[in-house]
Amino acid sequence: MITFGPVPSRRLGRSLGINNIPPKVCPYSCVYCQVGATTEMTLERRDFYSPDEILKRVEEKVKEAREAGEKIDFLSFVPDGEPTLDANLGQHIALLRPLGFPIAVISNASLIPREDVRQELAQADWVSLKADTVQTPTWRKLNRPHGNLSLSAILEGSLVFAEMFSGTLVSETMLVSDINDSEAELTAVGDFLGTLNPSAAYISVPIRPPYQTWVRSPDETRLMLAYQILAERVRKVEYLTRYEGEAFASLGNTGEALLSILAVHPMREDAVSAFLSRAGAEQELLIHLVEKGLLTRINYRGEFFYIRHRIKPVC
Ligand code: SF4
Repeated sequence: MITFGPVPSRRLGRSLGINNIPPKVCPYSCVYCQVGATTEMTLERRDFYSPDEILKRVEEKVKEAREAGEKIDFLSFVPDGEPTLDANLGQHIALLRPLGFPIAVISNASLIPREDVRQELAQADWVSLKADTVQTPTWRKLNRPHGNLSLSAILEGSLVFAEMFSGTLVSETMLVSDINDSEAELTAVGDFLGTLNPSAAYISVPIRPPYQTWVRSPDETRLMLAYQILAERVRKVEYLTRYEGEAFASLGNTGEALLSILAVHPMREDAVSAFLSRAGAEQELLIHLVEKGLLTRINYRGEFFYIRHRIKPVC
């Protein structure tokens, strides 16, 4: 599905998500990815959906949200892969602009060495760039990038973008225990972020079930260390380690709405129950979706989550 939500976003309030990349096309295959294994690893920008199709789908969702009294704070490109692989990203943003909502893009920054990508991203109001590590061996282990990418070019491209961008730039650093949470790693990332100078540096942990089951969040001592190191170098640092709550909107067909959210956003069991209650749907719908193999119920860190059935790993 091209649009989903509005969903509660930890940074963007009520976010109407735009899924402009099919699962799972990405230049990375991060060990902590919540969407599953990358099935097409590519650096090639191309057409996925036409700008008219994206506009039509967003207009429909905005209309549904208005009719349901649902607030929208942002239109957010947060797809099942890397949004800048979409050769029409700039056109989408231009076409959506008259709807009057601020536009956000959450990117892994892998293509930011390209001038065209920087220009298109700069049309957004709010951009998040991934900065998990500045060490190439760690990057390879954690983000598992396409072989033709260069981390130094990505870091340089991010700095160039920060200079030219007039909107709100934030960074996101996902920490994984024993991979990028050492003092040396955190200090090096902090030094880079100090130069990037984002409005906020977000520290994230895998709070949703990751693709690789061995992935663990750092303990609280490490999280505190990360905060302290970054806060010495960046003007604002925040954790993104909270659960988002239960305020998922129920729009249109309840089953479809639930599946579209879960495709990019695993939900805790109590949130799914609350979602179904608000939509006036029976809990049997959930059982039906599980029995059909469309949803999976899994235990992660002592909590039960529902996710869309995973794509089988190919790497
Ligand atoms: S976490 Fe983001 S960048 Fe990493 S593999 Fe998943 S979609 Fe790609």
